[in-house]
Amino acid sequence: MNYETTIGLEVHVQLKTQSKMFCACPTGYGAAPNTLVCPVCLGYPGAMPVMNEEAIRLTVLTGLMIGSNINELSKFDRKSYFYPDMPKNYQISQYDRPLCLGGSVVIEVDGVEKTIGITRIHLEEDVGKSTHMARSSGVDFNRAGHPLMEIVTDPDMTSPAEAYAFLVALKQILLYIGVSDCNLEEGNMRCDVNVSMRPAGQKSLGTKAELKNLNTFKGVQHALHYEVERQSGMLTRGERVIQETRRWDPDQGITTSMRTKEDAHDYRYFPEPDLMPVVLAAAQIGALKATLPELPRTRRFRFAEQYGIPAYDAGVLSADRDIADFFEAAAGLSSNPKAVSNWIMTDVLRVLAERETTLAALPLTAAALASLVGLVDKGSINMTGAKTVFEVLIDNGGDPARIVNERGLAQVSDGGAIESLVDDAIVANPRSVEDYRNGKKAALQFLVGQVMKQSRGKANPPMVMEILMRKLEG
Ligand SMILES: [Zn+2]
Repeated sequence: MNYETTIGLEVHVQLKTQSKMFCACPTGYGAAPNTLVCPVCLGYPGAMPVMNEEAIRLTVLTGLMIGSNINELSKFDRKSYFYPDMPKNYQISQYDRPLCLGGSVVIEVDGVEKTIGITRIHLEEDVGKSTHMARSSGVDFNRAGHPLMEIVTDPDMTSPAEAYAFLVALKQILLYIGVSDCNLEEGNMRCDVNVSMRPAGQKSLGTKAELKNLNTFKGVQHALHYEVERQSGMLTRGERVIQETRRWDPDQGITTSMRTKEDAHDYRYFPEPDLMPVVLAAAQIGALKATLPELPRTRRFRFAEQYGIPAYDAGVLSADRDIADFFEAAAGLSSNPKAVSNWIMTDVLRVLAERETTLAALPLTAAALASLVGLVDKGSINMTGAKTVFEVLIDNGGDPARIVNERGLAQVSDGGAIESLVDDAIVANPRSVEDYRNGKKAALQFLVGQVMKQSRGKANPPMVMEILMRKLEG
């Protein structure tokens, strides 16, 4: 029998705020354990929470970006459970009135687009972090109380590859609006996965397992592959899949049972009595909407159309907002956006990768890149000279035209001057001349190279080629 896979994700995203969700403690990664804490985030009796408005704003921005409906009246609830990393024994979360409902994210797998529905986005506080050592365990509460946005998808994904593509697309959107650093290594973005199988064609969903401890997108994909095999194997053998929470073990590449899955009523949700409901006026929501950037996907299509660049290049350029902004700024100042795109695709991205740095950290400006493209187009420098100018711009910045003058990089397009260099090369390399006349076309490249070398790279290559061919064949 054939089985269909159904996958839904719960993505937890730490919001980029200065302070925690309900107290003034700073957020931060890497501080000494239990140094960023206070009575509120440690759950001392009588400590009162105060809402972080910035966290509300960032969550609403995320919802607007993916087309959610924003609840004008939203509230916080207590989710009760015991775990050593949660000092209050309840987590302040949102139950029946989350900030955002609905929305969607478009993904692409093997060139095929698919829309993944978003069920809801709610805001809650993060819990502490347990560390297990050889003979003891420790809990660090620095993370406890960090604003945590939970994005819950509809069960719309049907393969591990789709789940992976969703996470990539979501991360790109979150980085575009700057609501989170989305640094997986620092735990900014964590994911729980619900996966079930059902016989092909069956309407109702199969029994699901929830997978935990997925710290990388690749991990999500691997764990799903494993789980799909495990569940379909059980179903094929006529066994029943039980609803449970399973832990992914990346070292062994398997999932193992942690506990049978709780239902919502086990958490005894009730309204948080220490916090007022969140009321958002339509005008406030409208004002936030007006500040949103274009979606990366929309921008990609516009880049291809507006600047006449290949779809692949438009995808690369729009994937990162800083690069996309830089490209647009340079393309806007240039009459040759295609060349601007080529410089970024090949040279700028290479430098960023080699130096493991960001555009903001380089002295290269969009105006300088546009001007460099202009100098090449006007024939003031050839590509060899332009590469030299580019290296200067990357290290020191500056004005390309001035760099060309200071370094004597101007292209030689003077026919007379090139002709005399060509004559010299012909006299100096009789073997190559003979080879060429005997039909060895490769000899021509050698002669062009000799002329370029004599001009110290500054001769206009098409002119060299043309004059050389004329002389050799004449
Ligand atoms: Zn605190």
